Amino acid sequence: MSFTMHGIGVSGGIAIGYAHLVSHATLEVAHYNVPRNKIAEEVVRFDTAISHVRAELEMLCANIPPSAPGELAAILSMHLMILNDSSLSIVPRRIIENQGCNAEWALKQQMDTLVSQFEGMDDTYLRERKTDVVQVVERVLKALMGHGDGASVSSEENLILVAHDLSPADVILFKRHHFGAFITDVGGVTSHTAILARSLSIPSIVALHHARRLIRENELLIVDGTQGVVIVNPDKQVLSEYKLLQEAWEIEKQKLKRIKTTRTATIDGTPVDLHANIELPSDIEQVRESGATGIGLFRSEFLFLNRDNLPDEEEQFQAYRSVAEGMRGRKVVIRTLDLGADKPIAGEVRTIVNPALGLRAIRYCLAEPALFYTQLRAILRASKFGNVWILIPMISSMSEITQLLSLVEQAKASLREDRIMFHEKTPVGGMIEVPAAALSAYAFAQKLDFLSIGTNDLISYTLAIDRADDSVANLYDQLHPAVLQLVAHTIKDANRAGKPISVCGEMAGDASMTRILLGMGLREFSMHPANILSVKQQILKTDLPSATPIANRVLRLEDSQKIRALIQKLNA
Ligand code: PEP
Ligand code: MG
Repeated sequence: MSFTMHGIGVSGGIAIGYAHLVSHATLEVAHYNVPRNKIAEEVVRFDTAISHVRAELEMLCANIPPSAPGELAAILSMHLMILNDSSLSIVPRRIIENQGCNAEWALKQQMDTLVSQFEGMDDTYLRERKTDVVQVVERVLKALMGHGDGASVSSEENLILVAHDLSPADVILFKRHHFGAFITDVGGVTSHTAILARSLSIPSIVALHHARRLIRENELLIVDGTQGVVIVNPDKQVLSEYKLLQEAWEIEKQKLKRIKTTRTATIDGTPVDLHANIELPSDIEQVRESGATGIGLFRSEFLFLNRDNLPDEEEQFQAYRSVAEGMRGRKVVIRTLDLGADKPIAGEVRTIVNPALGLRAIRYCLAEPALFYTQLRAILRASKFGNVWILIPMISSMSEITQLLSLVEQAKASLREDRIMFHEKTPVGGMIEVPAAALSAYAFAQKLDFLSIGTNDLISYTLAIDRADDSVANLYDQLHPAVLQLVAHTIKDANRAGKPISVCGEMAGDASMTRILLGMGLREFSMHPANILSVKQQILKTDLPSATPIANRVLRLEDSQKIRALIQKLNA
């Protein structure tokens, strides 16, 4: 049966492919009955998944890179032991046979039994082993899902990931793959999950609400990331219409490539800098291809996710150095740790009442000065190998600036003492992400070397909307007059103080916002590499003397609808 679902499109384009259901830590497992005459087949399916994971773990054990942490080998051997134990490799077979249920459900039941046994243990070490059991079961479940009756699934590009919810840490793992599209039940438009989905440069939709429940493994899907629409089991006519739309989209993308090496300036000759946002050092390849002239935001906290230990100074230094060197003297703005909120700190138990308003970003770093100091030393060391700038997230008061600058000075002093070279004048800037900071922009600009507006958080905190919560996503409005006033005020004050100012939130990569930002006086934009060319195209077609008065008129309007209408006129 064909049906359509609507969500929030967070990354444009059209993908046509087969559903692949994925889950993260909270395992969502389908339960269905298997007919008696198919039970033997179901047991074989289970055995095949176990063998697949065994081979996978053995391969990982045999190929541990020398740079990997020492405990990795021990963890992998323990996982192999757990997998080979009859409680995981044999008992679920009996459950399939006795209950006539699917392999996933049998495995899930057995996992629950084992987890409660581990939880009852007195020994802390043994109690904690329940996490390893869950991790091994997750691997087997993934193997089961990937090796279901997947005859029609030929390659990753044909797969459309369907998830209830994924954390930013989960999404970052997908960067190693080339899936066709990405859809989730929950998530706001500028949640980190959405930003990362966008950074995969594949069509993505969030806030579909029931996709994970209604869509089945291997069902044919059309994902229209621009409109936020998913069509499940489309008929032939719809399918051929979307194939045409997909081709047209690809042609447009190819056409845009023609302006890649064109100098970025408005019609009247005002130069504009277009920089890229990255999450991992490996992203710089995409940055080079995009035509960006620097990195305006390196979200360094992604180096800290998906691992049990923290990267030490040396490991961080190597990562920052590789980016600095890779950009060959072009600007590289490294943002210090922005953990907390939707990017939990390793080992943190999520009991915080409101993490977005809690110990996040610079607040967390000042509460853990040793961690911050290690990162500052690593970034300063990398400054010798390129044009490195340090950016501090979520500053909200002068006292934070005083404290952080003093820590930067301490890090510099210790490097001098250790006779380690660094660039003495490494600029230190602050992100304007809370209204208090926007209103203090002039004062902050006096103390700092540059400012960068994080519009994702600034909108969230101005309108009191959790950006990760799709139930209030309809209230998230980048054209709210208060938001535009704060952005314009910050740009004006930074310019008045003579300090560089950029926007590095999602607003910078939205071509419909390019002219209004230019009209406000912005000359530096930082965005996901995939958006660079569409923003550049808009800049090349902008005449500043005519855009600026309209931008000023927009700033005098009091309601979003009128603002939207005038911006449409500005963009026409
Ligand atoms: C922002 O808040 O706009 C920003 C760029 O930072 P992040 O999205 O990582 O919070
Ligand atoms: Mg932010």
